Amino acid sequence: MNPKTYKEKLLQELYAPYQNCHRCPLGSLGRTNVVFGEGNADARLMFIGEGPGADEDAQGRPFVGRSGQLLTKLLLLAGINRADVFITNIVKCRPPNNRKPLPIESNTCKKLLLLNQIKIIRPDVICTLGSSALSGLLNKDDVKITAMRGKIITSAFESPLNTIKLLPTYHPAYILRNPKEANILFDDLQKAATLAFGEKRSQNT
Ligand code: SF4
Repeated sequence: MNPKTYKEKLLQELYAPYQNCHRCPLGSLGRTNVVFGEGNADARLMFIGEGPGADEDAQGRPFVGRSGQLLTKLLLLAGINRADVFITNIVKCRPPNNRKPLPIESNTCKKLLLLNQIKIIRPDVICTLGSSALSGLLNKDDVKITAMRGKIITSAFESPLNTIKLLPTYHPAYILRNPKEANILFDDLQKAATLAFGEKRSQNT
């Protein structure tokens, strides 16, 4: 079995017990689907957002609404095919009214699913999208996304994940509200792509 097929099998085994998860409050607050994530199980680059929105909840897929369409478009412009990366969120169930996930929700879901996804996929680079994703991943309340975005963090994870580089950037939903800053998100995506795939990524992906 090749590594990608093996990792796909491990991800399926990880998800199976949580198809109808109620391990945190979000399981009982009106979600339609548990949105585990999608993409290349052997990806070198992984994206982590905050949580599913209405479109994602309805379709059971991450980043398929307006924010996701913008992300997909910017990834293509940066030379990355969406199918070559893995995309997920800190919490897998939609928070009501798109509120931010509570710490109990982020921490529970992260331990059950996200950290295990990271262990299976073992990307070279993780790009967090927005302050909630960064805060949830690092378990810190006081992250300043404007100060931290675009900076490579090499000490985010403990062994054996300590080789993974973390690159925070803005959430595409923020760019939809502030289109003049689209170039900043694009620059960060290019940086993440170069870190993961090298300069000649269009030939590597
Ligand atoms: S957000 Fe995660 S932990 Fe909470 S119910 Fe959904 S899958 Fe379970």
